[in-house]
Amino acid sequence: MSPYLGGNFFLSERSEFKNLIDNLLIHRTIRRATREDKFRNTILHQICFDFSKNKPYNVFYLLKEKVMVKEKTYDFIDERVVVIYDRTFPLYIILGDKNYLIDSGPAARAPEFFEKISGILYKTIGQKQPRIDTLLLTHSHWDHTGGAHFLQQQYDFDVLASTRTTELLKKPKVIQMIDQMNQGFKKLIGDDSDICFSTLKHLSAVQPAESISISSKSHIEVIDTPGHTRCSIAFLLHPGNILFPGDAAGLMEPDSTIRPLFFSSYSDYENSIRSLLELEVEVMALPHNKPVKGKARVKSFLEASLQKTREVRNTIREYLADGRDVIQVSELIYEQEFPNISFMGPRDILIMNLESMVRSVYNA
Ligand SMILES: [Zn+2]
Repeated sequence: MSPYLGGNFFLSERSEFKNLIDNLLIHRTIRRATREDKFRNTILHQICFDFSKNKPYNVFYLLKEKVMVKEKTYDFIDERVVVIYDRTFPLYIILGDKNYLIDSGPAARAPEFFEKISGILYKTIGQKQPRIDTLLLTHSHWDHTGGAHFLQQQYDFDVLASTRTTELLKKPKVIQMIDQMNQGFKKLIGDDSDICFSTLKHLSAVQPAESISISSKSHIEVIDTPGHTRCSIAFLLHPGNILFPGDAAGLMEPDSTIRPLFFSSYSDYENSIRSLLELEVEVMALPHNKPVKGKARVKSFLEASLQKTREVRNTIREYLADGRDVIQVSELIYEQEFPNISFMGPRDILIMNLESMVRSVYNA
């Protein structure tokens, strides 16, 4: 049973309703936006109704309609950078003579993101034919690349990524795998459209420490941040020191715990966070959370992320030392660490991710 995925969660049994509602209330925004009793009743009623039709219902979409309609949909991080808010996949656009989008979100969301991006470009800079000129990819994961094919069909943008990401995205097997994961996500959110991930055009590699010129006054610095994946890079916009770290900084769960994501190498991941800490970042534009604003806040996020990373490693070490194998340790951590709701995916994907993490400690 794998009812939850990517911040959009589903119910597979009625008995889970109460748990789910309790967990939803962890979200500050939801608590603020709704009176608890009224909220419970509305949601439960709607969910029961949808279950009676045997249709899995995406509770977040329901929430969006019923509770969150009044939330801001986008904002300026500084005069050149726009964030399009989203609970799971916020988008970031750097505006200029050319417009840059950082990561694309999953395929299922791409048509909606296209509408939003184009609408916001029209509203903010008056582009009648809104353009994204370049897509910058932090890494090759399905939820960062999945929407790129659809969006490229609309904008015909160039794609810049690490050498490894560009190599991966040229491999038919990898393209197929990214598409498969996106199809799985679509299935879970009840999306029966034919949207898919496929080959990207205009792919070029950027190197660590390379500078991507945006205008005479600004540029993007490429930073090597392996550890989450071997293909991960981050982008730092100058001036302004706005960091787009991809998944290298970890993920913040709705209850504010930081979840480390060292899927390819524990030591690389820890070193990458350390190198991000040296950058004096003003804003950290996270791919699955709201941007973290202010040097002190960014620093404390990264320090907390580093600490949690070490804690998880120590736990894994202890469990391995007790004689458990990689799979047993992964399952044990899953039981302990993952409450009913997580941002990261259904059980099989979570277990797979945890296995990568346990293995990266095991192999260290
Ligand atoms: Zn990732």
